[in-house]
Amino acid sequence: MARLLLIEDDLTIRTPLVRGLRERGHAVAAASTAMTGLRDALDDRPDLVVLDLGLPDLDGRELLRMLRAVSAVPVIVATARDDETEIVRVLDAGADDYVVKPFTAAQLDARVRAVLRRGPGGIADADPTMVIGGLRIDPRSRQVSLDGEPVELTPREFDLLRHLATRVGEVVTKRELLTEVWQIPYGGADKTVDVHLSWLRRKLGESAQQPRYLHTVRGVGVRLVVPEAAG
Ligand code: CA
Repeated sequence: MARLLLIEDDLTIRTPLVRGLRERGHAVAAASTAMTGLRDALDDRPDLVVLDLGLPDLDGRELLRMLRAVSAVPVIVATARDDETEIVRVLDAGADDYVVKPFTAAQLDARVRAVLRRGPGGIADADPTMVIGGLRIDPRSRQVSLDGEPVELTPREFDLLRHLATRVGEVVTKRELLTEVWQIPYGGADKTVDVHLSWLRRKLGESAQQPRYLHTVRGVGVRLVVPEAAG
């Protein structure tokens, strides 16, 4: 039995697949959008993700890139696009295997078992290092490097960066940062967050005006992203 996460927006595909995979003994969770799928993949740590490429909120390949930046969980891509270029592209982007629609639960189950047989993977791996583009964050040693160069951070800056890294691609509010990183309730103290963010930016060699990793979303919060150039 494996714990599977199926990210698929089409109910007419999702429902029979979930049922078919459960009948084959797997524990199956499902998500209908890329962003809920990414969240579930990080929170629930499934053994394997089945990812539809055509999702409403984000291209599945983009989601694969984001997932790969933070996780080694095996991914099988489900694609309607039966063309070789597309398949090569998703395999290059870090997919472990693919299935072309339409496919049955039995076929998918066989692929799942084959991928899982290849060995341990999954985000419960021994190495919890988070890799976001050229940024490496090691929570054990609390060390950070950028493009291979060590970055010296204060404990608070490290906690701030690590928290943003667990939510890569998502806008994190200052309220959440104050609660989670500073463990103080929100009370107009968001200047504290601004100040630490600006220090962190400087250490990462960027600015609010010319962001690479840390993007301010005015009036809302901040988002850590994989810069385009870092792929
Ligand atoms: Ca779809």
